[in-house]
Amino acid sequence: MVVGDIATGTEVLVIGAGPGGYVAAIRAAQQGLDTTLVEKDAYGGTCLNYGCIPSKALITSANLAHEAGNAEEMGIHADPVVDMSQLRDWKDGVVDQLTGGVEKLCKANGVNLVEGTARFKDENAVRIAHGGEGQGSETIEFEHCIIATGSRVIQIPGFDFADEQVWSSRDALAADTVPDRLVVVGGGYIGMELSTTFAKLGSEVTVVEMLDDILPGYESDVARVVRKRAEELGIDMNFGEGASGWRDEDDGIIVTTETEDGEEAEYRADKVLVAVGRSPVTDTMELENAGIEADERGFFDVDDFRRTDVEHIYAVGDVVADTPMLAHVASKEGIVAAEHIAGEPVAFDSQAVPAAVFTDPEIGTVGMTEDEAEEMGFTTAVGQMPFRASGRALTTGHADGFVRIVADDDSGFILGAQIVGPEASELVAEVALAIEMGATLEDVASTIHTHPTLAEAVMEAAENALGQAIHTLNR
Ligand SMILES: Cc1cc2nc3c(=O)[nH]c(=O)nc-3n(C[C@H](O)[C@H](O)[C@H](O)COP(=O)(O)OP(=O)(O)OC[C@H]3O[C@@H](n4cnc5c(N)ncnc54)[C@H](O)[C@@H]3O)c2cc1C
Repeated sequence: MVVGDIATGTEVLVIGAGPGGYVAAIRAAQQGLDTTLVEKDAYGGTCLNYGCIPSKALITSANLAHEAGNAEEMGIHADPVVDMSQLRDWKDGVVDQLTGGVEKLCKANGVNLVEGTARFKDENAVRIAHGGEGQGSETIEFEHCIIATGSRVIQIPGFDFADEQVWSSRDALAADTVPDRLVVVGGGYIGMELSTTFAKLGSEVTVVEMLDDILPGYESDVARVVRKRAEELGIDMNFGEGASGWRDEDDGIIVTTETEDGEEAEYRADKVLVAVGRSPVTDTMELENAGIEADERGFFDVDDFRRTDVEHIYAVGDVVADTPMLAHVASKEGIVAAEHIAGEPVAFDSQAVPAAVFTDPEIGTVGMTEDEAEEMGFTTAVGQMPFRASGRALTTGHADGFVRIVADDDSGFILGAQIVGPEASELVAEVALAIEMGATLEDVASTIHTHPTLAEAVMEAAENALGQAIHTLNR
């Protein structure tokens, strides 16, 4: 559509159609507000197109191939062949189905969809530049705006994503061949999910991490379970080294690293994946025209309703300081912002934000760790159930890891959980609900859980905290 410089008006303008923006737009429209959603690239944002969904599709395929080829103990002998281009078509099909669904849902809820890049003209209007030469622009005036422009990968000196040997997570997810040798810079959750995946698809993987362990932010005994499994998969891990550059060699590339003391090391590879984090996309919107400021790292400080300093302009998702960059956080913030605009009594309560890492095994965490609870002044009751004592875990062939529940010793209220093991990403939902409902250890321990299931381990961890566990020794 070619649009001249005409001005239209809307009650709620949402910028960015990722899980923060499209959810906010749908909820605002459901509240009867005239809502317009602007997107410059693809419906579903990073999550559906270049993040959560394609990565989980790739992880599932890699797990399937690896399991099938490593089940001799169960009497299954197979040598699966992975056709990466077919795998990519399947993964792209899943993405298309979901992004098409987002567009349809927006339309069905009456959200006006506009394709283009938004920049602020003033505190009540944006200019939308439509993509491509001669596509024109339009001005949209708004009463309220929700900024949901998400984040982009951080590039480090010496590694340019324009070079085909240097991969971002997005490039890795779009690959249609498996590199023989892959160096992964960064042992955070995206680096570790992709290291494990490519190792299972057949790459020789080397991880280079500046800190002294993988998965910063997770407790050391949780990270240890994942590190041990990564080592079993043949992933070579190198800590205390920062990647300093790379150069072409006859048969591939050499990635160079340096320690704090100036010691250098070199790793041979075919590709280098740089996964050192993401930064908010707030520098392209001419914020100064609307009188909004981001902090020095580009994030917005927001209040409990997700309002920025300019009260009718909200921010949700990866652009928000102080909440983790996660799709479900973005969506929740989007709902809070939309409902607040509609006059509903809502606020963002981040007591129990679950997080999952889809490594092998998976990690699921929610609420407080034991240390955090004690720092907050609680006397804690902690219960743990190892998966090796779970009948269901043993029948799946995956019994590494544990469920740990942290509670307030006086009241029994559940404060948090750390789960590392099979299906941890699913299991953590039970504890998130328990925290949200104000459940106690006794509530979880006395709830009958289906047998044989992995969820019994959550019940058993609660029993363990009460000194009543049957299948593991009480503390
Ligand atoms: C490899 C990878 C794996 C991940 N896995 C998980 C996971 O398993 N679980 C999880 O919870 N999270 C995961 N994440 C993080 C998750 O993708 C993000 O937290 C989430 O997408 C943030 O949502 P958002 O709506 O804030 O932003 P985004 O999803 O980034 O969407 C922002 C949208 O805004 C658009 N936009 C930007 N500027 C403008 C503008 N000026 N005008 C118009 N449109 C604009 C962009 O094109 C984009 O579509 C993963 C991320 C990556 C990279």
